[in-house]
Amino acid sequence: MSISEKSTQLQDEYNPQTRIDEALRLEPEFWKHKTLEKMSKEEWEALCDGCGKCCLNKLEIKGKIKFTNTHCRFLDCKSCLCKIYEHRFKVVPDCRDINLAAVREKPRWLPKTCAYWLLDNGYDLPAWHPLITGNASSVHKAGMALSGRTLVNETKVDDYENYIVDWADL
Ligand code: SF4
Ligand code: SF4
Repeated sequence: MSISEKSTQLQDEYNPQTRIDEALRLEPEFWKHKTLEKMSKEEWEALCDGCGKCCLNKLEIKGKIKFTNTHCRFLDCKSCLCKIYEHRFKVVPDCRDINLAAVREKPRWLPKTCAYWLLDNGYDLPAWHPLITGNASSVHKAGMALSGRTLVNETKVDDYENYIVDWADL
């Protein structure tokens, strides 16, 4: 079985709500009491809102990051989940791990709604964040995920500069 076949199966079995249900068993509002450095692996993972916006392709132009509406070929645009999550770094060499260095990198390449970036810059989690609502779908309902947007698979792109977008939540 190839990685992509196996991954599709994993994706089919994966229920995003399970992650949130497990996260709600962690210390209540742990993100208000702990810095990112002090968080456990489980707490760190729980912070991701599942928006998928870090999987958009970007350009660095004159020292600034420009997001495009083109997406990694392995992103499922409806669920905003990675189809190859377990194997992503092996399959996609430039897929980035979301760690402290990535969160603090300049110029900023994570969207300004990203929970890691928000907390690290002194903001609280937004009201639509799944850890606040208890519901994995709230990021989609609030229009903060990639679902429902006009997106282009990177395999169909020849010049990324033609796809730069200026969405307010990037
Ligand atoms: S941008 Fe941040 S919150 Fe959104 S999917 Fe990526 S890591 Fe998670
Ligand atoms: S391989 Fe990386 S960039 Fe591509 S969809 Fe998966 S997590 Fe996103």
